[in-house]
Amino acid sequence: MSRAASNLQIDSARLWGMIHETAQFGATPKGGVRRLTLSAEDKQVRDWFRKACEAAGLEVRVDALGSMFALRKGRDMTRPPVGLGSHLDTQPTGGKFDGVLGTLAALEVVRTLNDAGIETDAPICIVNWTNEEGSRFAPAMMASAAYVGDFTTDDILSRKDSQGVTVAEALDSIDYRGDAPVGSQKLGCFVELHIEQGPILEAEHKTVGVVDSGQGVLWYDGKITGFESHAGSTPMPLRRDALATLSEIVLAMERIAKKNGPNAVGTVGEAVIAKPSRNVIPGEVAFTVDCRSADDGIMNALDGDLRAAVAEIEARRKVEVKLDLIWRKPPTRFDAKLVDAVENAAGALGYSHRRITSGAGHDACNLSTKIPAAMVFIPCKDGVSHNELEDATQADCAAGANVLMHTVLALAGVAS
Ligand SMILES: [Zn+2]
Repeated sequence: MSRAASNLQIDSARLWGMIHETAQFGATPKGGVRRLTLSAEDKQVRDWFRKACEAAGLEVRVDALGSMFALRKGRDMTRPPVGLGSHLDTQPTGGKFDGVLGTLAALEVVRTLNDAGIETDAPICIVNWTNEEGSRFAPAMMASAAYVGDFTTDDILSRKDSQGVTVAEALDSIDYRGDAPVGSQKLGCFVELHIEQGPILEAEHKTVGVVDSGQGVLWYDGKITGFESHAGSTPMPLRRDALATLSEIVLAMERIAKKNGPNAVGTVGEAVIAKPSRNVIPGEVAFTVDCRSADDGIMNALDGDLRAAVAEIEARRKVEVKLDLIWRKPPTRFDAKLVDAVENAAGALGYSHRRITSGAGHDACNLSTKIPAAMVFIPCKDGVSHNELEDATQADCAAGANVLMHTVLALAGVAS
């Protein structure tokens, strides 16, 4: 790589300006962003993004699910493009950085290369994936999942929001149903910059997270059947209390996740008493469990330990517990060569860094099943995300964008 290329830095103030400029589309009073996918606010940010990409000399194409692909030509157009980007939709009470950082940093990378007159060998393609968040349409990350063939385009187009509006109707209403078939814009690999959405980098005073893996997920639906009876006249030893049973399961889940740590997590996130009443011992409780680990063996251990604990509690309390595994998503292993490229870029730029597992799902995780993919994390304040208070520093955003740029340069190739 030439000296000019190896010393290159993105324009921190310009990136920071773009993040705050786009935060006006769906701005909330508390300083966050509400930009549900394919909403009027999403159209505003998409139109802004398309114009900015075209001003940077990129050719923008939109696929049948509304994902936007902005191509910067390379010297060798027979090579598939190096993909970079993230998403511009947010949670109903989201922040300014989740997804936005990775998408706008990708644009900042291109602007910096343009200003420096640097051509890459392989083309570069910025992607804004439709509906990463999944808060209006399920599933989350649906466009990248369809891109790798996990769903058909028609299946996704027919998904409805809570008002009965389909993805197809929502795309048409903001004029973002593109004519490029899903998957037609080939990518040789994909690199996504994102805020960590967790507390580890901040706690360890590290600037960059080199993401080498993503958590696998186990989702269970559970139901406990005990016996409803009078809260006043049923002696304690004779009760078959479904809620007390759930309480033991919740604590068992916590113990099992800690035992299988440091990175395993387990959560009982929903609990519904069938017929709640102040003076009735709960006879039926439905609940959900979410368990995660980046290691397949530990996922098996979590499953085995949870089932054993539930069986023991069930027998001792003389209740019936049904525990159905409804979803198992294997852990993500990011591409070793790409992970090394991210680590090398962080090291060469002099940023403190560590390898890290992504606790959340990302479009890059979906893509990693079909093409080499990797991610770059930067810290966010107090690890808070999916919240209007979500925050990150200008310096960390710039550091992440610089790592993204030098990773992309290494992958796309720069003639010296
Ligand atoms: Zn995100």
